[in-house]
Amino acid sequence: MDSEKQYLDDEPTQEGLIDLSSVPIEFCTDEFIGDLYLKQYKDKEKWLREQRVRNELHREELVKAVQAGILKDSNPETIWQRSIGMANKRKKVLIEFKHEIEIKKDSIIAEVAKRLGKYLPDWSPKFAKILFTMEQSYTCWCKNNDAYINLLVFVDVDDPIEKLIQYFVHEMTHLWMQEPYFSQEAVYPSGKDRLIYSLVNEGFALLNGGKASIKELQEQLGRNYKEYTEESFAFINDRLTKNNPEEFEKMMQKESTCLDKIYLVGVKIVETVLEYDGVEKFRALITQARKDPSLIIKRYQEICEINKDLPKIYF
Ligand SMILES: [Zn+2]
Repeated sequence: MDSEKQYLDDEPTQEGLIDLSSVPIEFCTDEFIGDLYLKQYKDKEKWLREQRVRNELHREELVKAVQAGILKDSNPETIWQRSIGMANKRKKVLIEFKHEIEIKKDSIIAEVAKRLGKYLPDWSPKFAKILFTMEQSYTCWCKNNDAYINLLVFVDVDDPIEKLIQYFVHEMTHLWMQEPYFSQEAVYPSGKDRLIYSLVNEGFALLNGGKASIKELQEQLGRNYKEYTEESFAFINDRLTKNNPEEFEKMMQKESTCLDKIYLVGVKIVETVLEYDGVEKFRALITQARKDPSLIIKRYQEICEINKDLPKIYF
């Protein structure tokens, strides 16, 4: 079936020009980070009172910690000193990391723009804002026109700057996809259309930002990637063919429970279309798909007619 593919590795392509120079970029303050870690230590008396309760609940562990020399004794005051010392150390590490990103900001943004240009058309964001922040949620996210890059995700990983760039590209792709809805060029999809939009939105963001981690994650969870992809297609097809508005609402509200399935199916669809159509045709189609995401799914269905081995999608 490979002969049907129009994609050639050495296909000459014109990269999209991505201009992020006018996008406002904000950093959370050092005080904000301090607060995040030290808030719980503000009222010492309250903390000690609660620690006495914890001491009762974890008596055995405390004895072990003292025997192992981790704690001098199990006195709440001793534990207070140790905990606040650790929180201060953590705060220092995080603030230093934030300062490192502030210093490297321009080169990070240049790299993000370059990677976005690989499959996006020329783009100068109309509404986007970027916030480098820290939250204890361990995710990055988009809210309306804003991309939140949670620095906490990258502090303890190998090659944190590379990982940050990948997530940054992912979130910027979402902002690009969302732009027609904020500029009122398109109506924000609901129900079934929202699932179709999510498949294309997440699939394209993963393609741009790096998708290796998905396969890795599934394997870490003990799943067979191929089998889980097929299971995910079956799950999505079930939702799309039943077309039950309530079911869609439930699904999109509790997105995390089915988000990995949306990721897997979305990236398979987007990647297959790119592979068959080549970069330039793909760029034109994904640009149209911002207002009508079903175009990508329809193209994938056509490709499924050529390659019968691909998992099918019905809607
Ligand atoms: Zn995403």
